[in-house]
Amino acid sequence: MTIFQFDRMPIAAAPVAREAKEVQDVHGPASLAWRNRFVSLGDDFYTRLAPQPMPEPHWVAWSADCAALLGLPADWAQHPDWQALDVLSGNAAWPGMQPLASVYSGHQFGVWAGLLGDGRALWLGELDTPSGPMELQLKGAGLTPYSRMGDGRAVLRSSIREFLSSEAMHHLGIPTTRALCVTGSALPVRREQVETAAVVTRVAPSFIRFGHFEHFSHHDQPAALRRLADFVIEHHFPACRDTAQPCVALLEQVALRTAELMADWQAVGFCHGVMNTDNMSVLGLTIDYGPFGFLDRFDPGHICNHSDHQGRYAWARQPNAAFWNLHALAQALLPLIADPDLALAAIEAYKSAFAAAMLARWSAKLGLAGAAQPDDRTLSDDLLRLMAIDHCDFSITFRRLALFSTEPGAPNAPVRDLFMSREAFDAWALRYAARLRREPGADADRALRMNRVNPKFVLRNHLAEVAIRDAQAGDFTELHRLQTVLQHPFDEQGAAETERYAGFPPDWAQTIEVSCSS
Ligand code: AMP
Ligand code: MG
Repeated sequence: MTIFQFDRMPIAAAPVAREAKEVQDVHGPASLAWRNRFVSLGDDFYTRLAPQPMPEPHWVAWSADCAALLGLPADWAQHPDWQALDVLSGNAAWPGMQPLASVYSGHQFGVWAGLLGDGRALWLGELDTPSGPMELQLKGAGLTPYSRMGDGRAVLRSSIREFLSSEAMHHLGIPTTRALCVTGSALPVRREQVETAAVVTRVAPSFIRFGHFEHFSHHDQPAALRRLADFVIEHHFPACRDTAQPCVALLEQVALRTAELMADWQAVGFCHGVMNTDNMSVLGLTIDYGPFGFLDRFDPGHICNHSDHQGRYAWARQPNAAFWNLHALAQALLPLIADPDLALAAIEAYKSAFAAAMLARWSAKLGLAGAAQPDDRTLSDDLLRLMAIDHCDFSITFRRLALFSTEPGAPNAPVRDLFMSREAFDAWALRYAARLRREPGADADRALRMNRVNPKFVLRNHLAEVAIRDAQAGDFTELHRLQTVLQHPFDEQGAAETERYAGFPPDWAQTIEVSCSS
């Protein structure tokens, strides 16, 4: 049985000849313990390849927090023994790294796209860290056999966006790949205009995507598909091993993680922009930040990716897109699952898990902590409907809702003033106040609770844009400031200079266009 039909395309990877001598080994501290388990999967899974050196690199930014996750010493970026700038620009290697480009395929915008793979990312290896094994990847480290029409590079603009957003999402408590650093260079890279090259170092327990499974399934390599499934189960979902059908259990676990991730995205107004199956992590991490965006004014149909003409990945459609992608994963796993109905049942779990997770997120955003009540769902739905009609700012509205007073006759101006239709808001506010009075605790307790789930600071496009413009002119001060603010998205922070990061976007923010070509 097929869950859905796809076209077959031949495997056609262009050879890339790059000799390892381009990489000059340095004697990085012996404290790094490399495991590199992905390498054990074998040659079907990757092409070994050194990064393409990036001339005269300079630091753009690094994350001390991500470095600490890896167990790196405080001076890792600057200490001459580490040569971190050279290593993380692709000009040198720490002993133990085994760089490779992995192969995957996938569906892009609902159409089978055939062979994709790491076209500009290079897997460096897997480190034993205090937080468990972590893989390191360079993004923008040059041509690979999977670069297709691309140049293997990433530009400074998109690298800064990925860096800031990876770390910001982490601090919002949302599962994501992390970003250790960005390095830049004067190397010209042609996009709509000529920009300059940069490399992001990404960190994750695994970079395996739905597309890795699709690749081996669609290219009729059942033994490799089995190897991949066993690998993922053994290292990332060991509990599945002890079930009657480990691959069915795996599929269900991926579905459940994806459901949680979608609820997380929706709840902070995050739009990914390119939810193709090759951009879906089997660990349920946010991965491959491209033309993503956080909602400014609330529009459920908001499309953050300028190239997504049909709005396939519009904000409100993300949960459905994820479910569609789970069908593609189920289809890919069918050769390993005896009964197709079991595969469908496994991903069916997504629906109820997402509904429950989403209800929990909206309820928490409204400050409802007691037992769920039958009309909680309509209460949040109706608020969202009013916000959509009046184009209320998504983050600011929820943040100000913490100030809502249940005192009879309270004006509640900070939040009420955000709505054009005061009457409609007042009617909703009466229901909200009545519901809140059934909650345990005082308004002040609820406010504290709400401020822990409704961020004051998110990476709005215009904030990234200002930091990028300065960075392109060689000044990274604003980038670092923004990075620091986004490390504490739920805190008031208080200082006058941080308030502007929490304000309404300027009019010009609406003219910012981000697309896939980064
Ligand atoms: P994305 O949807 O941006 O994650 O990328 C889709 C595919 O295109 C992946 O296989 C990428 O590795 C590849 N790709 C994107 N940009 C480039 C580039 N500049 N050079 C080479 N490959 C690229
Ligand atoms: Mg991708």
